[in-house]
Amino acid sequence: MKAIVIGAGLGGLLSAAKLSGKGYEVEVFERLAMIGGRFTNFDIKGYQLTTGALHMLPHGPTGPLAQLIREVGADVTIERQDDTAFMRIHEDLENGIYKDVSFGEFGSTFSVWNRIKLALLLISTRKWPPKNCSFGEWITKNLNMPIAHQMADSFCGWALSLKAADTPVEEAFEIFENLYRHGGPGVPIGGCKAVTDALADVVRKNGGSIETKTEVTEILVENGKAVGVLIDGQKHMSDIVISNIGHPFTSDLYKDAPTTPQYKQYIDKIRTIKPSAGVKICLAANEPLIGHGGVLFTPSAKRVNGINEVTNIDPKLAPRGKHLVMAHQTVQWDKIPYLEEEIDMGIADLKQIFPNKDYEIILTQSYYGGWPVNRSSSGTDIGNTTPIKGLYVVGDGAKGKGGIEVEGVALGVKNTMNLILG
Ligand code: FAD
Repeated sequence: MKAIVIGAGLGGLLSAAKLSGKGYEVEVFERLAMIGGRFTNFDIKGYQLTTGALHMLPHGPTGPLAQLIREVGADVTIERQDDTAFMRIHEDLENGIYKDVSFGEFGSTFSVWNRIKLALLLISTRKWPPKNCSFGEWITKNLNMPIAHQMADSFCGWALSLKAADTPVEEAFEIFENLYRHGGPGVPIGGCKAVTDALADVVRKNGGSIETKTEVTEILVENGKAVGVLIDGQKHMSDIVISNIGHPFTSDLYKDAPTTPQYKQYIDKIRTIKPSAGVKICLAANEPLIGHGGVLFTPSAKRVNGINEVTNIDPKLAPRGKHLVMAHQTVQWDKIPYLEEEIDMGIADLKQIFPNKDYEIILTQSYYGGWPVNRSSSGTDIGNTTPIKGLYVVGDGAKGKGGIEVEGVALGVKNTMNLILG
């Protein structure tokens, strides 16, 4: 059996590693000159900056991605520092007066009445997860105080690049369940690139091939089934095709779609998919700004949702004695035309969060459209199958339920592999 994979991002490489290990002949085609998509590093002045991710696996060494990495035999070390997620609550933003509250104790800043309510909600929602509203609406109904909204926005902004008001409550609570199940974040030693390079090594070791600078321009369909792809006018035939570029871009690549009601329904669903947008600001610091390898959530900030300092786990991600600090902020869809203002507001936040600290901004990056934070915003994923037989979609345009970012990519790949391999 032969599989063609379109795109050498994380989802494409995980799928290729798994299928090549199961005896499939695998060919991966990547249009860029590099592999890894939004999950790899490039070196600027000794700092390992990334094409996307913040060098963090949301559930560290015990999450779905780490499990899949081990399962395919990729050589990656993932480290986690326990109890290193904090909420920085500013009592006086202008004068830099704040306290850092442990993530697990976020409720300690609530009123007594809301603390009691929170304790009851923590028990009842695990048994009866809320439904049919946004996480923001749920907060308004149950814990209506500004700090609860700010914390929810900070968490959703950091983890999903969404406002709480744009996060379906079902997805939010599935994510919390996964946090209980798998634990908090970790950092792959060597950064994102260590993961995607190790997966590429597995593919090649299993006899698969990965071609860069090779763009797929068409998915070939015969009698409702994917039979290969077109590259530079040449046909490459296969038994299955796996696309790593999300449902909308995938559907643009085939011509002979079936004219069935199911196909029309699928196209209608695709039209509702909105990628999530964001801004990342990378700081080169001469001193530790955070001091741990977890996440500093910033609910009091106007734009920045959270910050990490991965060099506390892997010092080699920056030159000796320096720190790589990355701040992430969601960009709401109506703010995409005003990215420069969004970036300026993020930079202003950082000045207030780290007054008198010795750092320089080394890079600012914005993500939207075809190079977003998530191809399908969390909670709006429509699964891994398509109306075309033998054509599957993987990656963050087809995540598994409750999977934050790359954990969702891993859950989606796992689901796809179950469909293909049984
Ligand atoms: P992609 O990275 O989308 O790769 C798809 C590949 O397909 C690309 O290389 C593209 O060039 C190629 N391609 C496209 N069209 C074609 C074609 N026609 N022919 C051939 N090749 C094609 N996740 C985390 O878990 N932790 C984080 O800390 C984190 N932080 C993030 C911060 C930012 C700012 C961003 C942007 C993302 C972040 N993410 C994070 C999300 C994570 O980076 C993505 O979810 C993940 O990398 C997406 O992988 P993917 O499998 O969807 O593939």
